[in-house]
Amino acid sequence: MEPADNNTVELSAEIEQALRISEVAFETSDAIMITNADCFIIRVNQAFQDITGYSPDEVIGRNARMLNSGRHDKIFHAEVGMWQQLFQDGSWSGEIFDMRKNGETYPKWMKITAVANRDRQTTHYVGIFNDLSERNNREEEIRNLASYDKLTRLPNRHLFLDRFAEKLAKSTRLKSYGATLLIDLDRFKNLNDTMGHDCGDLLLIEVAARLKDCVREMDTVARLGADEFIVLIEDVSNDLDETSRRVGLVAEKIRECLSRPYFCNGHPLLTSSSIGVSLFCGSEIPVDVLVQHAEMAMYQAKNAGRDSIRFFDPVMQDRVNAHAALENDLRQAIGRNQFDLHYQMQVDNNHRPVGAEALLRWNHPDRGMVLPGVFIPIAEESLLILEIGNWVMDNACRQLALWAKNPETRKLTLAVNVSAKQFAIAGFAESVATMLKKHQVDPSRLKLELTESVMLEDMDGTVEKMHALKALGVSLSIDDFGIGYSSLSYLKQLPLDQLKIDQSFVQGITNDGSDAMLVQTIIDLATNFRMNVIAEGVETQAQLTFLKHHECMAFQGFLFGMALPVNEFERLLHRIAGGITGAFRAFNPMC
Ligand code: C2E
Ligand code: MG
Ligand code: MG
Repeated sequence: MEPADNNTVELSAEIEQALRISEVAFETSDAIMITNADCFIIRVNQAFQDITGYSPDEVIGRNARMLNSGRHDKIFHAEVGMWQQLFQDGSWSGEIFDMRKNGETYPKWMKITAVANRDRQTTHYVGIFNDLSERNNREEEIRNLASYDKLTRLPNRHLFLDRFAEKLAKSTRLKSYGATLLIDLDRFKNLNDTMGHDCGDLLLIEVAARLKDCVREMDTVARLGADEFIVLIEDVSNDLDETSRRVGLVAEKIRECLSRPYFCNGHPLLTSSSIGVSLFCGSEIPVDVLVQHAEMAMYQAKNAGRDSIRFFDPVMQDRVNAHAALENDLRQAIGRNQFDLHYQMQVDNNHRPVGAEALLRWNHPDRGMVLPGVFIPIAEESLLILEIGNWVMDNACRQLALWAKNPETRKLTLAVNVSAKQFAIAGFAESVATMLKKHQVDPSRLKLELTESVMLEDMDGTVEKMHALKALGVSLSIDDFGIGYSSLSYLKQLPLDQLKIDQSFVQGITNDGSDAMLVQTIIDLATNFRMNVIAEGVETQAQLTFLKHHECMAFQGFLFGMALPVNEFERLLHRIAGGITGAFRAFNPMC
């Protein structure tokens, strides 16, 4: 054998070194697979075995296609043009699905590089890849967290609305009707508080399962929040009546199913549900509005005594819209100076004016004069009553300050209506004190008319607040007395000055024996508790005679004048003071 020359020795040392380096590099955490030009595997590393599950013996000599999952054949070979790119550029990379030895399909990121000889002919391919399934699972998990309810695993509101929008598009194409059913558990909060949150959670999970059992696989059940679920039933029928009938049956099935007992730690629990249904066909009405419709119907079901089903009714929608428009206008009313106080006379036994009740009027440019019976309930619901009540108190006190300067009006008491919502706020007594001070009003001229409902919520707080008001020097009257739920025992505890007999009883006294009896009892009650008593809504001489006969002390009603703007009210007073006969009659719509 010829001895090697120096150059050859150096070269073989370099090759040996390079081989050692590539040997080490070969054992990385990325899988490496080397094939010949015909794609037959000639070498793989440990990571390859870890990811694919195949040992080198099982793959060497076989075509790399054996790893193929079949899931992306077309894309892989034809469309993506992997081979084309490999021929052109010598390398390709991308995400593909392959199959492990155990049959599991998995995503992987793969780079393939062609190795060419000096004649630029491909001799080998080196494929390097890593397993993407874990990363994809994490991404999936994050997507799930954002779209699914953790407790019940149902789609959440967000995902539901997305799916609903898709289904609406489909409904347009098919011209078919579908429905959303909004389901709210009755008194869930009570149950949660008394049985504990763990039981509450179990119940919600069970409700989710029962809901899914009640509908078809293709329908969607989602949890909107707390104890509110929604079901989307698609493609029911092309006929509205048929859809209503079928959806009604599903809703009834759900109602019945949810009312069956639940068990928590062996204890049976009972609950019921209120279900609101809105039907749809096509995508004319947006998804959030359809959900609102179902919600409105659900509240109707609640109002109907719970454990019931209601379909959304467009007439109800019109009413809701009108209500919203009125509330919107009401919000602007103070700023636009649309409120006014009218004054209705209160007289004593000798028909001498002793005071007036301030009654609010809303003069709307388009609606005309809106009466408090229409707007006060809306103001109470929206809490606008707080701002409005403050406006009334401010203007009533301003009027009292003006009256204090005039001998004809100086002795008048002004009764101001105070809503229970207004009375309930912390600092109400202080706000009255501030107004009295601002206008320098003698507090004994101000009378607050409260309704029996102020007693309903917090009796102790009410007693305390009334005492604070009494300490200011104002007097307190209970308005519409007799129609509330008040018990006699509270009367004892309250520092009241007056009971105001509700006009419905006054109107009945001459022809309804029980009303007459009631009025008589109220007058006796007031006398026994050392309160004075006023009758409101006195319209006829016969009513007045009866009331006087039973020793009622004061009167208010059309017989003595209706509620009038301040200048007309003052003119009426002036005529009475001047002894003009028939003065009342001139302002009495009943005469
Ligand atoms: P209310 O305090 O019981 O007022 C008596 C209502 O009966 C007034 O109606 C009055 O105009 C009417 N009325 C008076 N005399 C007669 C009569 O002889 N016959 C008949 N049929 N009705 C009579 P109005 O002004 O429409 O007020 C209705 C209700 O609105 C009031 O009932 C009161 O609860 C509320 N309200 C009025 N102004 C205010 C206010 O400033 N604040 C609050 N919170 N509520 C107010
Ligand atoms: Mg009143
Ligand atoms: Mg009243």
